[in-house]
Amino acid sequence: MSGHHPIGILGGTFDPIHYGHLRTALELLEALELAEVRFIPCRIPAHRGLPMVTAEQRLALVRLATDGQPGFVADDRELCRDGTSYMVDTLASLRAEVGPETPLCLIVGTDAFRELHTWHRWQELTHWTHIVVMQRPGVLQPLPPVLEKFITPQVIFDVLALRRKPAGGVLFQPVTQLNISATHIRALLAQGQSPRYLLPEVVLTSIHDQRLYRPAPIPDSATR
Ligand code: ATP
Repeated sequence: MSGHHPIGILGGTFDPIHYGHLRTALELLEALELAEVRFIPCRIPAHRGLPMVTAEQRLALVRLATDGQPGFVADDRELCRDGTSYMVDTLASLRAEVGPETPLCLIVGTDAFRELHTWHRWQELTHWTHIVVMQRPGVLQPLPPVLEKFITPQVIFDVLALRRKPAGGVLFQPVTQLNISATHIRALLAQGQSPRYLLPEVVLTSIHDQRLYRPAPIPDSATR
């Protein structure tokens, strides 16, 4: 039995979405033969301050970026829930939707993966999903021991193993190294420089049209 094609889940702040998300997601869609990749922007991030752009605006940019790519789905479930957006709740709701047999693959970059043991109810995550870790440029430090100890027995090396069970495996999957971050894109925009070619043109046009990520206006009192 080849099993069901897994569903990929890429959660994030997407503040804004960029080619570091999109290219790696496409590579995983193809390499792991995923049925789809769900891009799930968080409403209220658990591990950082509130973004300056609203969740609705970040979701709209995700929609623009993913539209037209077969297999890419913008998923608004975290915007429909109150309170902090916890991945464990998102996974439970996806599991209820797809049933017990379809494999889920939570996709995380190495930076996010190294922090996994700080996530809400983190040891439950692999009960709901596999985890696929993609190397991100510059993140090479060893894993925190508590995380290393937890994941070692769950590591799998074969892509096909993702289809044999619905959850519980951890796969390290190589992807093209793109040193692109939303932090850098926000910094460029705040300085009035162009982030062109780091993110889709349609996203950048919308950012400009809505005047997002602009430098904070100088208060009147400071100019007097
Ligand atoms: P910020 O710079 O604001 O922290 P970010 O660029 O890291 O944002 P997120 O929305 O926080 O983007 O990332 C969502 C997920 O995508 C995380 O698992 C992160 O590791 C991964 N990711 C982001 N950028 C890349 C990249 N260039 N290559 C591989 N994975 C990435």
